[in-house]
Amino acid sequence: PTVLALETSCDETAVAVVRDRHLLSNVVSSQIQVHQQYGGVVPEVASRQHLEAMNWAIAQTLTDSGLGWAGIDGVAATCAPGLVGALLVGLTAAKTLAMLHHKPFLGVHHLEGHIYASYLSEPELEPPFLCLLVSGGHTSLIYVKGCGQYETLGETRDDAAGEAFDKVARLMGLGYPGGPVIDRLAKDGNPMAFVLPDGKISLPEGGYHPYDSSFSGLKTAMLRLTQSLQESSEPLPVADLAASFQDTVARSLTKRAIACAKDYGLGAIAVGGGVAANSGLRFRLQEAAERENLRVLFPPLKFCTDNAAMIACAAADHLKHGHTSPLTLGVQSRLPLSQVMSLYQSGGD
Ligand code: ATP
Ligand code: FE
Ligand code: MG
Repeated sequence: PTVLALETSCDETAVAVVRDRHLLSNVVSSQIQVHQQYGGVVPEVASRQHLEAMNWAIAQTLTDSGLGWAGIDGVAATCAPGLVGALLVGLTAAKTLAMLHHKPFLGVHHLEGHIYASYLSEPELEPPFLCLLVSGGHTSLIYVKGCGQYETLGETRDDAAGEAFDKVARLMGLGYPGGPVIDRLAKDGNPMAFVLPDGKISLPEGGYHPYDSSFSGLKTAMLRLTQSLQESSEPLPVADLAASFQDTVARSLTKRAIACAKDYGLGAIAVGGGVAANSGLRFRLQEAAERENLRVLFPPLKFCTDNAAMIACAAADHLKHGHTSPLTLGVQSRLPLSQVMSLYQSGGD
């Protein structure tokens, strides 16, 4: 099926048209420059920006697809998790379009979208596989079993990987968003310059959790280190700090993802989320996967960060399985991935 989808869960106003696993058109209007002056995303500002961009983004996407409404089989929008006010803009627009043009409507779980980014970039990919989802709000290891069927095997206990990049960049005075800045600085630094905690989670029975992680201790260690270095008269060794931090995160994520794939007998690891752009993670994970004879998939960056193409791709698969959502579906700021199927009714109208 061919689906038009809207994504407004955070600070990207995105619209796309996808046919099965193939992209027909894709528009992303980023609000990063608007939020940069506040050092982070301001929810009310995000909602207003979505409203302003939504109409032209839909019109542009439809024109780019070369299709008219007659060629669209369903209309979808991200409905959870995310900023409630921001989600409402996309969801309300999608419901309205679905009613107006007599199309089935589908709500999509944002994280399921991030998983489908891998199908978009690799249409031959088939479950089961492991998804390492590393974004601004999530650090998860997800066992992908099929459409709507996911088991989260590992998670962060506190800060997400992208959040850690953003917070560390902020405490070093490097601006927002932090990931790309740290990635760039790290290229000129020595990753062995500082030894940092890698966020192991102790288990009550002894030993460590094999797949869960924590990044708040690492962030605190970076804060203390930066403060003590600032007290000396030397200029702050930002490149070495960035490289050491980045490599610590990359090794931590790599170790857990590889262990998880091996333990569950999964031959492929698909990476998703904005942190998939990180060159340190790409290097460490690729290197380890080669050693272990596992396949790693890094979708192109435009599918890793927030976009509507991944949402449309997920919706197309649900529609193919006969899943549609009721028009009474609301938005939810949180929703476990295990509850994705609560968004659908089978063989519905
Ligand atoms: P979620 O999907 O969990 O709701 P999100 O969609 O806001 O979160 P993304 O847009 O996928 O998250 O990713 C944004 C995050 O990716 C930011 O924290 C940003 O710092 C990080 N990021 C982007 N590029 C890089 C990079 N090269 N290295 C590390 N982190 C990066
Ligand atoms: Fe996201
Ligand atoms: Mg984002």
